[in-house]
Amino acid sequence: MQDQRYDAIVVGAGFAGLACARELATHGLRVCVIDRKQDLGERMHTTGILVQEACDAPLLAGVPRALLRAVPHVRLYAPNLRSVRLGADGYRFYTTDTPALMRWMGEYVETCGVELRRGQAFRNATRTLTSWHVDGVGHARVLVGADGARSRVAHRLGLGQVTQFLYGVEYEFDGVALREPHALHCFINKRFAPGYLGWMAQTPTGVQAGLARRHHPGGTQVPDMAGFLHHVAPMTGLSATRRPDSIRAGLIPCGGPVRPMQREDVVLIGDAAGMVSPLTAGGIHAGLRHGATIGRSLVRALSGRAGPHMASSAVPAFAFKRALRWAFDHAQFDAPVNLLLAARPTRRVVEQLCFHRRGGLVPDPVEPD
Ligand SMILES: Cc1cc2nc3c(=O)[nH]c(=O)nc-3n(C[C@H](O)[C@H](O)[C@H](O)COP(=O)(O)OP(=O)(O)OC[C@H]3O[C@@H](n4cnc5c(N)ncnc54)[C@H](O)[C@@H]3O)c2cc1C
Repeated sequence: MQDQRYDAIVVGAGFAGLACARELATHGLRVCVIDRKQDLGERMHTTGILVQEACDAPLLAGVPRALLRAVPHVRLYAPNLRSVRLGADGYRFYTTDTPALMRWMGEYVETCGVELRRGQAFRNATRTLTSWHVDGVGHARVLVGADGARSRVAHRLGLGQVTQFLYGVEYEFDGVALREPHALHCFINKRFAPGYLGWMAQTPTGVQAGLARRHHPGGTQVPDMAGFLHHVAPMTGLSATRRPDSIRAGLIPCGGPVRPMQREDVVLIGDAAGMVSPLTAGGIHAGLRHGATIGRSLVRALSGRAGPHMASSAVPAFAFKRALRWAFDHAQFDAPVNLLLAARPTRRVVEQLCFHRRGGLVPDPVEPD
């Protein structure tokens, strides 16, 4: 088992690693994915909200609809809890039964020919003349690090590492309903979420409520979930005293792509490569796209149809969003947001970020839908 030979070994069975592995396997290459988790649905560290474009990713094309819940609107709240409802014709976000989705994706790539080794952690890899030898796994012509924001592959093999993070915490409440379930509720509030947002959403299984804030190494403050739930309870209908059924938490890269992202037939993808929108902190769609693009590029390289360079064109600079991230970090004040939430320039920026230039303010129905 230890001396198996593969075209590629992918470390990490998240969105990016599985998207990459699927591309490789469907082009007939021998690919092994390892993940330290025994069950891909355990210890989740994502809300799992998908932008509509993510559902077009080949990895998700056949996902059972029962694992998704369409959310057509965003309700954006100022710190004083006044809100606007935003939407775009035909545009949907999707909340997910995330643990079930991760398990489904793992099983799906196995049907594509991927060898998925659950419960196998990456420890180290050494370069031989023609391949990488991954401890406890085998040899591969290329190695892909898709092992998340704190990538051990990047650390061990001297690639760029993520240094700027948000820290997010999320509570899950099973079997409960929000007063307005068709909206993704986003709360701007410097006290509870400096540098990011609070959020609440109806999922296929209940309600998710989360807070993320700028992470400062050594001095990170734990987000005040109790205070946040109390603050927003009048708007959402969720009891502030109910205990969560489960908790998710994790670091979210927010500094843009790492450098270097690749060398000598080893490449980082997804969170490991810093491929997360520095402003919205959405990394699922970016990871799916980056994983698939690098996968296609590796197919060409491994079949001798291209040089060893692996798709540096797949790396967006996130220049606009990094500028907004800087502004959010250095000039976030509640009072102007209270004043300007529904003003046209604010709305423009939010529309651009949420709906990719489509959409706008949606009048509130008399009754919440
Ligand atoms: C609280 C929170 C909420 C979020 N909500 C959203 C959201 O709603 N929508 C969105 O688009 N983005 C969200 N994000 C960001 C998003 O989750 C990530 O960008 C996305 O999951 C990245 O996918 P990935 O495949 O690159 O990495 P990951 O999903 O982190 O997957 C990495 C995999 O590697 C495995 N691994 C790690 N180390 C090793 C090792 N040494 N050996 C073997 N395996 C290893 C892990 O077990 C894991 O399965 C959120 C992030 C957090 C923290």
